[in-house]
Amino acid sequence: MQYQSFIGLEVHIHLLTKTKVFCGCRSAFGDEPNTNICPVCMGYPGVLPSLNIESMRMGCMVAKSLNCHIPEKTWFERKQYFYPDMTKNYQISQFASPLGQEGYVDLEGVNGGQQIKKRVRIKECHLEEDAGKMIHSGTASLLDYNRAGVSLLEIVTEPDMETGEEAELFIQQLRRTVRYLGVCDGNMEEGSLRADANVSINLPGKGLGRKVEIKNLNSSRFVRLGLNYEIQRQGEFLDAGKTVVQETRLWNENRDQTEPMRTKENAQDYRYFPEPDIPVFAPDAEFLASVDKALVELPAPRMKRFISEYGLNSEQADLVCEEKAQADYFEEAVSEAGKRGMEKKSAALHIVNWLLSDIKHLLNRDGIAQAGIGNFKLTPARLASLVDLLSRGQVSGKNAKQTVEAALKEDRDPEVIIKEKGWELITDPALIAKAVQEVYAKEGAVFEDVRAAITAGNEKRSQTLTAFLVGKVLQATNGRADPKIAGEQIGELIKGSV
Ligand code: ADP
Ligand code: ZN
Ligand code: MG
Repeated sequence: MQYQSFIGLEVHIHLLTKTKVFCGCRSAFGDEPNTNICPVCMGYPGVLPSLNIESMRMGCMVAKSLNCHIPEKTWFERKQYFYPDMTKNYQISQFASPLGQEGYVDLEGVNGGQQIKKRVRIKECHLEEDAGKMIHSGTASLLDYNRAGVSLLEIVTEPDMETGEEAELFIQQLRRTVRYLGVCDGNMEEGSLRADANVSINLPGKGLGRKVEIKNLNSSRFVRLGLNYEIQRQGEFLDAGKTVVQETRLWNENRDQTEPMRTKENAQDYRYFPEPDIPVFAPDAEFLASVDKALVELPAPRMKRFISEYGLNSEQADLVCEEKAQADYFEEAVSEAGKRGMEKKSAALHIVNWLLSDIKHLLNRDGIAQAGIGNFKLTPARLASLVDLLSRGQVSGKNAKQTVEAALKEDRDPEVIIKEKGWELITDPALIAKAVQEVYAKEGAVFEDVRAAITAGNEKRSQTLTAFLVGKVLQATNGRADPKIAGEQIGELIKGSV
């Protein structure tokens, strides 16, 4: 049977605030267990939590970037349940007045061969505190509360997605967005971004089905695999005339299947009530202005702009915009090339080719992530100068690559290096003619072969042999002879002797 599927995601992101959301403890991953704790985040009696304004600001930045509106007043509730990783027995969260409400995200792209273009509505974004971490070791469990009280933003979508591929793209797009904003590192393996995926299926036109929640997915791939597995499993259930049980399941990455975890509690089980110790937050004009000021151009519109403004193709735009630092580097390099009189689109094309091949390779080799390109010794201005020299035929492609190596090693300008090493392209016809004569003296037979090939009308062979001779001329000049002039001179020499 054909079914319609409905997918809604709940994504939790760790905000990159220096301190926790309701106390002054350090917020960091990987510290010695139980060193970043205090009576407030441990929930001792009589302590008073206070809201970290940075958490609220970052949360609002995400909300606005997801086209949500920020309400006039937003407050916190206590969500009550017992769990050993939460000493207070309640979590401070938001229920009735989330800081971001009713937004949307436009999904656009290709994933798993699917062309995706869809608007996904965002139900809300709310701020809460994270719980501690349980580490199971044999028959005992250890507790590390460093994470307890860390700022967590939960982003909840409406059930507007239909396939695992769409959900995966949503996560990837969201991850890029929060990294662009600088509010989350997006590291799914370390749990800085994790997703719960809700999915139901139903007969077409019958609306939402009974949902199953897949919890704690720590990679976008598992989101896709888990959801597609569930859609299949639920379909087989309905085909067999059974009803799907509303429950929470986990993705088992070793068996490639979802497995039951628990039946789901309802909102009323949590007995939410307003947190009495934290005042209602009414964002004033100054706060809202500070949120707006911190916003940046998001990856999706930036990609579109790169295509129209710089003439990149969509694959290039996608790769360049993967990291904000890299997209910034690209634009700065193009602008520097413009200052040298290069035409924008032509400069952009040169620069994007360098970025996506040689520079990418060098960054990898030197262990610099693309996000760290801002500290790369080959600065945008330096790359621009090199690209400019190349396009004006002042240096050969081969020597340009060597120049990049030297610029990185010596932290100096390409122009200076090229001058010093004598790597400028030789364009003086007399000097090139001298080199051509040298090659002729040694490789006379090849010149004869080219002539024979031309006479026989074997164009391919004559071209191959000519390229070989040009290579020899370059060799004789340490890669400095202008290959175009060398080729012309070789051609004339052969024609002259025909
Ligand atoms: P709960 O109270 O169980 O947490 P919510 O209404 O808060 O449920 O929704 C949680 C997530 O589940 C949201 O992303 C929402 O879009 C999604 N969702 C809700 N109902 C369904 C359904 N029937 N099928 C698929 N997804 C659903
Ligand atoms: Zn604390
Ligand atoms: Mg919910």
